[in-house]
Amino acid sequence: MAVNTLQDMAEAKRLVVKIGSALLVENGEPALGRLRTLAADIAKLREDGTEVIVVSSGAIALGAARLGLAKGGRANLADAQAAASVGQVALAQLWAEVLGTHDITAAQMLVTIGDLEDRRRYLNAAATLERLLEAGAVPVVNENDSVATEEIRFGDNDRLAARVAQAANADAVLLLSDVDGLYDRPPHEPGAALIERVEGVTPEVIAMAGDGSSSGMGSGGMLAKLQAARIAERAGIALTIANGTADHSIAQALATGRGTMFLPVRADNARKSWLGGRQALEGVLTVDAGCVAALSDGASLLAPGLIEVEGDFERGALVSLHGPKGERLGQGLVEYSAAECRAIAGLKQTEQEARLGYAPRAAVVHRDHMVQG
Ligand code: GLU
Repeated sequence: MAVNTLQDMAEAKRLVVKIGSALLVENGEPALGRLRTLAADIAKLREDGTEVIVVSSGAIALGAARLGLAKGGRANLADAQAAASVGQVALAQLWAEVLGTHDITAAQMLVTIGDLEDRRRYLNAAATLERLLEAGAVPVVNENDSVATEEIRFGDNDRLAARVAQAANADAVLLLSDVDGLYDRPPHEPGAALIERVEGVTPEVIAMAGDGSSSGMGSGGMLAKLQAARIAERAGIALTIANGTADHSIAQALATGRGTMFLPVRADNARKSWLGGRQALEGVLTVDAGCVAALSDGASLLAPGLIEVEGDFERGALVSLHGPKGERLGQGLVEYSAAECRAIAGLKQTEQEARLGYAPRAAVVHRDHMVQG
């Protein structure tokens, strides 16, 4: 179904609900009362025919309190990993308990960014989610923080939730936070107004996030939420940010419609939306104005338009595509290594062969392996 308003989300076939650390952990202790009402809301949704996947933060916050670590366990990566290992046990247990009250089986799924970046592992995670839902369980997903290194971490569960929604073919994502949604300026400034609907996460929308600062306990912040919204919108998934501080906040958000909804702007095919949601960029290709125009007409990126190559990558790497002023155009899988890209940048087809010593490929980034935006 098309999800156009927050209230439509109640009718979604498959909904991902992300719950931030600040909502689940208070003074180092689980916010049990709130958790119970969230579980009740999830049970009600399921009764009414919506399958629910939970993306739950809180492992680091819970574990840090138990280990007595400073800065909520976020002083450095080793602390965060240790805190997550301890906290995740408690977190999974809490979800099993509160969902169990409604005779719902909780299923823990811990994923790293690599699990969702690699197409084969992504499809594998998708199959597990599908099977769990089919079997009647509620998957409770978190990042596998105890093994993920800084380079291969999502770091925030907002983008993770959008990627999980994509993998699970969900129609909507609800990001519950300690704010009401996106404001047109910092919310504490006089006259700040909540934006109710966003059609396309443009640079202007991103500017509204300001410095993107968060409540302190989680690592998400508004910027991460907007990045999540971008992943969702291009996958044809509606995403909403709503306040989760009150009891029964899922039911309340769906009933009142208060929050910021990001409408899906386009539905790429499944492979392209996976590609567009990938995070681990290995380089940047900058192209000239002629090439920018050709790309926006749907052409492949060809060597004559390539003006600069950043990074050190192999053939098949994910690279960001930029215009001459550094503006981002999209991303794609490159057909050449960085050294080969540098060798043929700006060259015509015939010159490329002479430079490479072998027949060049049809494109530097083929349009089938490229997503705009
Ligand atoms: N995965 C982290 C945790 O469970 C939370 C990440 C976030 O704050 O979004 O503590």
